Amino acid sequence: MIKKKELEIFLSTLKDFESPKENLEQWSTPPDIAAEILFIAYSAGDINDRIIADLGAGTGILGIGAAILGAKKVFCVEIDPNAYCIALENLEKAKRIFDNIDIVFLNMDVRNFSKRVDVVIMNPPFGLEKSTRHADVIFLRKAFEIADKIYSLHHFSSKSRRYLINLARNNGFKGSILRTFHIPLKARKEKHRKERLIIPVDLYVFEKEY
Ligand code: SAH
Repeated sequence: MIKKKELEIFLSTLKDFESPKENLEQWSTPPDIAAEILFIAYSAGDINDRIIADLGAGTGILGIGAAILGAKKVFCVEIDPNAYCIALENLEKAKRIFDNIDIVFLNMDVRNFSKRVDVVIMNPPFGLEKSTRHADVIFLRKAFEIADKIYSLHHFSSKSRRYLINLARNNGFKGSILRTFHIPLKARKEKHRKERLIIPVDLYVFEKEY
């Protein structure tokens, strides 16, 4: 069994977005945080032998990490062809090092993905840009539709906490916050460059209530 630090080190060798697109809110989960999230899910029995979807997979860091930790199969869904190509390169790299990596990368809009899975693990767009307004809600609704257990990262605010927990309840899910991370964004906008933007991000778990 791979150790958390070893997973983090491998994930840090994966290729990142080449020129991240702001209109898709492309920023990748830092390797240490990705490894942390994946081990939290693994410890809860939500990775080993599970069918997993990584929605808005970007360059594949979460999906590939889940496959390394023993997922039965991972579907990585990403709309951007450039990110998709990088993800395929990253997949090849993982396959050279680890056995039993079973990942399908799908270059498509998450709204058109309809496969039923056991668990969703995702870092979706936060819906902060004009072009991505409510993207987080679109991703969550899709996740509620296809899985009974969801791990998802969302931008922190007390308003968004109330909103997302309510949204979950209205969809038959119980939501709670497992951790709050502080993630340094590689700032691209001039106004952010001076501020060294660090954003608070909540890791939620959502579980279907019966
Ligand atoms: N999950 C990755 C990337 C996070 S950035 C990681 O943790 O590193 C969010 C990703 O969602 C971007 O790659 C963006 O291109 C993708 N995305 C945005 N809208 C999408 C949509 N409608 N369907 C599928 N992917 C989308």
